[in-house]
Amino acid sequence: MTKHLKFWGTRGSCPVSGPEYIHFGGNTPCLELQYDDQFLIFDAGTGIRPLGHSLCNEIMCSVRKIDLFLSHFHWDHILGFPFFEPIYRNGTEITIWAPKGNGRTGRDLFGQLLAKEFFPVHLNQIQAKLEFKIIESNVPVSMGPLTLDFCSTHHPGHTLCFKIKTPEETIGYVTDNEIDGDQEKLIEFHKGVDLFIHEAQYTPKEYAVKQGWGHSSLEKALDLIKKVRPGKWIVTHHDPSHTDADLRALEKIAKASPLPCPVEWIGDGHVIPLK
Ligand SMILES: [Zn+2]
Ligand SMILES: [Zn+2]
Repeated sequence: MTKHLKFWGTRGSCPVSGPEYIHFGGNTPCLELQYDDQFLIFDAGTGIRPLGHSLCNEIMCSVRKIDLFLSHFHWDHILGFPFFEPIYRNGTEITIWAPKGNGRTGRDLFGQLLAKEFFPVHLNQIQAKLEFKIIESNVPVSMGPLTLDFCSTHHPGHTLCFKIKTPEETIGYVTDNEIDGDQEKLIEFHKGVDLFIHEAQYTPKEYAVKQGWGHSSLEKALDLIKKVRPGKWIVTHHDPSHTDADLRALEKIAKASPLPCPVEWIGDGHVIPLK
């Protein structure tokens, strides 16, 4: 049986393309987690389009039951959903787990995302069976051998991050978090995880003009890692203005810093085997 994470989209804010982005790629957030027969997806950014394509032929989707978790409803995290082929295959069941965005549910917001002015297929014309469920901070969800828990991040609107426990290890997934002010709850929530996936979107110089936009500077992310003390730090949700060379330069600074763990900047298509 397969146990892995696969990053289908690692770009934050807006998709990009061009020769300067070839190594890291340009799709917005989407992470696949396969653990035996559990098939989970985190975020429906543009990376979910090639993920969906990999699962489907003309008639059917090879995975019948998919659980899709959304941290929040910003464009970069939902933009790929209308292009996710499994929603157009009969016999597929997709549960969409999302926080209540400013009082509105996932069903309300996806109904709007697929309004006829924006997209030709309406929510109630989709062939797959869709179910919407609400997730909340510190209300864990069990899924076979996996347990998922949620914690608020510091980001505009109501945004959650994820902690996934397998019988063998624990993974933290935090795409959108501005390390500013009180991070104690988030630090406590993720303390000592085996794998910690957290952004470091801005250089300190960029952060000086983008404070309050909801993302972290590399400097502050380095501080956070010293407090969380994970087994490994993986960096994703890269700034759309950062070329491959820029991202390699940020990674080099991080690797030269006194961190308690190894660190790696990863791009679209990166796979991490799970135990
Ligand atoms: Zn984002
Ligand atoms: Zn966001």
